[in-house]
Amino acid sequence: MTQVAIGQLIDFAYIVAAVLFILSLKWLSSPATARHGVIAGEIGAALAVTATLFNPALVQYKWIAVALIVGAAIGIPLGLVRMTAVPQRTALSHAFGALSATMIGIAEYYVHAPHVTKFSMVEIALEVIIGSLTFTGSVIAAGKLQEILPQRPITYRGQNIVSLSVLGSAIVLAIVLTIHPEYMHLFPVMVGIALLFGVLLVTPIGGADMPTVISLLNSYAGLSAALLGFVLNSKVLVVAGALDGSSGFILSVIMCKAMNRSFTNVMFGAFGQVQAGAKAVAEERTVRSANAEEAAAILSATSKVAIVPGYGMAVAQAQHKVRELYEILTKKGIDVRFGIHPVAGRMPGHMNVLLAEADIPYDRLFDMDDMNSDLPQVDVALIIGANDVTNPAARSDQSSPIYGMPIIDVDKAQTVMVIKRGMSPGFAGIDNPLYYEDKTLMLFGDAKAFVGEIVRELADSHRG
Ligand code: NDP
Repeated sequence: MTQVAIGQLIDFAYIVAAVLFILSLKWLSSPATARHGVIAGEIGAALAVTATLFNPALVQYKWIAVALIVGAAIGIPLGLVRMTAVPQRTALSHAFGALSATMIGIAEYYVHAPHVTKFSMVEIALEVIIGSLTFTGSVIAAGKLQEILPQRPITYRGQNIVSLSVLGSAIVLAIVLTIHPEYMHLFPVMVGIALLFGVLLVTPIGGADMPTVISLLNSYAGLSAALLGFVLNSKVLVVAGALDGSSGFILSVIMCKAMNRSFTNVMFGAFGQVQAGAKAVAEERTVRSANAEEAAAILSATSKVAIVPGYGMAVAQAQHKVRELYEILTKKGIDVRFGIHPVAGRMPGHMNVLLAEADIPYDRLFDMDDMNSDLPQVDVALIIGANDVTNPAARSDQSSPIYGMPIIDVDKAQTVMVIKRGMSPGFAGIDNPLYYEDKTLMLFGDAKAFVGEIVRELADSHRG
């Protein structure tokens, strides 16, 4: 086969891969087609990588083989982490993607410097700056989510000025290098400053803003890949990076809207500071609790139940027991709905994925607004391992760090039941006044075990 024919085949494979990426994003937007979306994305990526390996410009495969082995050794264990650790895993994936884009950009500069055209220098500088800040920013985000670093926003006086000055210096160096690509000693300084900016960018963000930061870093990683595509003249990289960047950006906008936050607030506002003394307050006040038998008796007497799942359901892997509960209540003629908060759990769509895995019908899942308009007619709101997303302080307490975040208004239901193991706060680290209300019953225990007990009680009473 001639080189021209090989080139055409590679281009054709890239077009098919790009179409598969677009279909993948389309299908991923609905739980009903999400599995197809994952498969389409995987086939597209495999096709793009395989086609690239046939590029006649490749002179030897030795280093590619080494990289493949190292990449697989890191990637396979990362792919096997438990589901609740997926956000930090995702942050690490962004970090690796951005690191590779940065390193290729650095290599491109040193291979061609000082004979780099102004246009190429702009591409390389932008790509390396965005790649570097995404790399360190993602590492810090992963550290916060894994709780190796403090989750709370770390702020100090004049922080925005310092951060913006650091970013400004990197941009000034990029401009100087574009005019004088031969000033090779400035290039590592620019990279170092961009790396520092990534740390400064994410350190002051924490608590309930983390979902938005992750999707924003996703968007930056895509942007740096797209810019790398320009540097390397790779169309498939431009398309894949642009899709990644734009979908990450759209997701960030959706998350901001869901959290009632503006972009500038997320980036510069330090939302979600841990409330000092939350635990101390929790210990002083009393709550009402019930056991599984009592909870089952209350549920049996209802006609409408709203189940609000959260991170604790994911940790306990209680979704299959929750389906059993849904089935047994539905058999009794009770209308059961699921209220899904956009940031429940630890990643966008976390609850949808878990409930879909347990075969709970999609038409029983209600988004926050629909659920909220329904809640005044609901007999029991059953919260399973959710905390922050039901915290009424977000609505009423201006001093609360999550004030302004929309919540599922479970306190509007006639009765509230909360399954959790104790009085520990959720991700935002703050106390939840819902637990002390007269209408609230705490059901202390592991979500999977407790829901299982309720199901058993309901089944026994059904037989009896
Ligand atoms: P929260 O983190 O607020 O609360 C989870 C609750 O689950 C805890 O209070 C905990 O209480 C309980 N829990 C833990 N393990 C178990 C278990 N085995 N059985 C029963 N309960 C358990 O979760 P929410 O889903 O309400 O809120 C999500 C939070 O995470 C928000 O603040 C959001 O901003 C943040 N976030 C969301 C991301 C996303 O993309 N969705 C990403 C990053 C952060 P106890 O220990 O007493 O059992």
